[in-house]
Amino acid sequence: MATEDQETVDAGLNDVERTDKEYVFGTWAYQSEVSPTEIVGGDGVYFTDARGNRRLDFSAQLMCSNLGHSADRVADAMAEQARTGAYFAPSLTTENRAELGRLLAEVTPGDLSKTFFSTSGTEAVEAAIKIARLYTGKHKIMSRYRSYHGATYGSISVTGDPRRLMAEPALPGTIKAPDPYAYGSTLEPMESLEYIDEMLMLEGDTVAAVLVEPVVGSNGILVPPTEYLPRLKEIAHDHGALLICDEVMAGFGRCGEWFGSDVFDVTPDIMTMAKGLTGAYAPLGATTVTPEIAAHFEDNMFCHGHTYAGHPVAVAAGRAAVETYIDDDLIPHAREMGEYLGDELEKVAADHPSVGEVRGVGLFRGVELTKKEGERVPFGERKDKISKGKTVVDEVSGHAWKNGMHLANMINTLIIAPPVVISEDEVDEAVAILDEALRVSDDAMEN
Ligand code: PMP
Repeated sequence: MATEDQETVDAGLNDVERTDKEYVFGTWAYQSEVSPTEIVGGDGVYFTDARGNRRLDFSAQLMCSNLGHSADRVADAMAEQARTGAYFAPSLTTENRAELGRLLAEVTPGDLSKTFFSTSGTEAVEAAIKIARLYTGKHKIMSRYRSYHGATYGSISVTGDPRRLMAEPALPGTIKAPDPYAYGSTLEPMESLEYIDEMLMLEGDTVAAVLVEPVVGSNGILVPPTEYLPRLKEIAHDHGALLICDEVMAGFGRCGEWFGSDVFDVTPDIMTMAKGLTGAYAPLGATTVTPEIAAHFEDNMFCHGHTYAGHPVAVAAGRAAVETYIDDDLIPHAREMGEYLGDELEKVAADHPSVGEVRGVGLFRGVELTKKEGERVPFGERKDKISKGKTVVDEVSGHAWKNGMHLANMINTLIIAPPVVISEDEVDEAVAILDEALRVSDDAMEN
């Protein structure tokens, strides 16, 4: 049953939005609460709705529109490929696919060299899981509680956040380990590695891979200490397990480097990518492996594929996007803007008692709220993520939305991840709207 609030919201929908709500599922939502906004345009870091409201995109939509909303080079490459030939089977190829494969070998860390293309982050993770299993001959995958790896059956099973609970029972052999960081937790980040070491030992050489986001994204922008990821790789290898780094959100300039793994100078055995790979212009996932893993499949079947694996229009977008990052020097730009953003957020946080912590790296920042000044007490629980109704963090985002800005959030954290093309002036504009919106959480604090 719709509440009065929802009825008011529904009454404000235009024809397109009402039709959409009736015929299209809203994702990760109680359908009665869905309230789609019709979007009619985008330019740079802004996008405009059907009522003429123009908003600054401070979260690059779902942390994916890294090139903003007017990357014409990518749009042109897609149109050109669509006209040349929109689709050919994966056993055929195009110059764009070959070149994007080569470019990924160039920009990914170390000797990562051969790529399987799919259409999303979740599929990139599914491929990584399957490759790790086929290569090692083992079946278990260890991941961490504060993580998101996708919505399909394998990737939701290795996901740690509460959304996994609704998909259980999970894929057999999926093990969850403690995280390097938790807001208010007493477990030291490096101590969590001792648990992982012990857990791998106790699993007795049955774990194919340890799968982590090098910098945790949707679960709150958690950056481990510098020595964490290199040590995790050693521990995994000591137990005969591979290291898979899920770079779906952390990659393509987000962390002020090409990839989150670069922040820690680590080359994983398998890397997954999507989102920024095409600047979100086309759905494309990628799973890139080392030469040793690639060589295994010379005489063992690579038993995987999709109709749209390496879809010509999607790889055209990917190639043009990667060339844009390179030719427009967007990685150094992201690093520079990231430092500026970090400083500005610290300044704003100092004025708001409801900010418990600001953390992150590059253009990947989290503002976590507290309901008790000077402490780290979340406004809600993790399970609120799958409950009905709005949380305080939703209300902060809602305030920003009304004032001209899109600001994503998850559980108790505002997720700041603008397009990497953002300028200093645009950061200033966004931070001013955030400053105003944080009054909502200040007012909601316990006395
Ligand atoms: N891995 C990570 C780290 C992600 O952030 C996401 C999406 N938020 C996924 C995987 C799944 O990607 P997709 O939504 O494209 O399936």
